[in-house]
Amino acid sequence: MTVHIIGGGIAGLAASIGCLQRGLGVRLYEAAPHLGGRCRSFFDATLGVEIDNGTHAFLAGNAALHRYIDVIGSAAKVYSARGAPFFIDITSQSSWTMSLLSPGPGIGLRDMISACQLFWAKPGQTAGAVLNATPIAARNMWEPLCTAALNTPLAEGSAQLLAQVIKAMALPSGIWRGLQTADISLSQTFIDPAAQWIGKKGGDIYLTSPLRELRSEQDRAVALKFDGQDVALHQTDVVILALPPWSPLLAPFGVGDLPSSPIVHAYFKPTGNSITKRVDRLTGLIGGQGQWLLERAGVVSVTISAADQFIDMPPETLAKTLWQEIAPLSDQNQTPLPPYRVIKERRATLRHTPDVERLRPKATTSLQNVFLAGDWTATGLPCTLESAAQSGFTAARLAID
Ligand SMILES: Cc1cc2nc3c(=O)[nH]c(=O)nc-3n(C[C@H](O)[C@H](O)[C@H](O)COP(=O)(O)OP(=O)(O)OC[C@H]3O[C@@H](n4cnc5c(N)ncnc54)[C@H](O)[C@@H]3O)c2cc1C
Repeated sequence: MTVHIIGGGIAGLAASIGCLQRGLGVRLYEAAPHLGGRCRSFFDATLGVEIDNGTHAFLAGNAALHRYIDVIGSAAKVYSARGAPFFIDITSQSSWTMSLLSPGPGIGLRDMISACQLFWAKPGQTAGAVLNATPIAARNMWEPLCTAALNTPLAEGSAQLLAQVIKAMALPSGIWRGLQTADISLSQTFIDPAAQWIGKKGGDIYLTSPLRELRSEQDRAVALKFDGQDVALHQTDVVILALPPWSPLLAPFGVGDLPSSPIVHAYFKPTGNSITKRVDRLTGLIGGQGQWLLERAGVVSVTISAADQFIDMPPETLAKTLWQEIAPLSDQNQTPLPPYRVIKERRATLRHTPDVERLRPKATTSLQNVFLAGDWTATGLPCTLESAAQSGFTAARLAID
């Protein structure tokens, strides 16, 4: 029995790992010349270093993602921020850590009690409507949290999904233990070690191999069509489609047009002092356009999630705006704009509105030997590494069953 896995993002890699762990044969086909999908790194000639397509933060309590990390032997390649997440208000320069009893300046008991209402939210409700937050609580906590976790503004974000995020954060292994990120680069932590592990276990990886068509007869997939070759499926073979949600190959399975939300990053290579001398390497930014800052090997990245207003902005304007916000953190406000690189991911994740949540499909399909995986499937989580890894392991379990 062979499992044919289409798509080499985190979901496809997790599905490959799950199948190989149970002794199944794996063939992984990726359209691009590299693995990783929306979680990848590349060498940037302007900055002269390897950078990511965007900063990826996650929780110590992300069980599926940590299973993935442990299996591929990458635990030592994860950076854990010290304690609870660190925030700085770039207008006042005041800073704080987010704790359960004191989540941020101006946020009181009333705000925390109103947060409980999220747990009784109905499917159609937005987080903004349920929380009805005070302007200061929205500014210092709810808007940053919803935008970071759901990549969707508070006014539009699904209340039920935000409640899931808060549940995960509140676990002992949640946000209070600190956020985590790739220590050096996404590819070095998540992608290259996974490819090596899959190779060692006998899995075959085919790069630059886009699937063009999946042929079916009655209730089974029977063949896969790639450029220049058809792969006939044996009676016991299984296909896992670990594609992005916009792939036309998903239309026959009822996956409609799922709206997405952009994320923009600016990477800077300053010459002076470390930007994060006074803050953590991974710090939340309040009061400006940038929302997260990560400093790694002399390169500083600034994240803007739900970046609809910024996606069409010229890179230089964007870089200048964000540099002006973060330069004062290290007294670099006098220095000119350092070398920079702006990366825009137009379709970074789903737009997690209540309407979109209703459309996310299950892993099973109308074909008995075809399963879906991907951060966008109905995992009950926002589109994240955890959702992608969980979906991949679920699809592998279904393939085995
Ligand atoms: C800028 C940015 C920032 C993010 N920040 C965070 C964060 O802080 N924390 C977090 O947890 N998550 C974050 N995410 C989300 C995270 O990256 C995704 O949830 C995850 O990478 C999705 O993995 P996936 O395997 O489901 O999909 P994808 O990565 O999209 O993988 C799908 C793969 O299928 C391939 N493919 C497409 N068509 C074909 C075909 N016909 N044949 C073969 N292969 C095909 C694609 O090339 C791709 O490699 C971020 C995403 C972006 C873009």
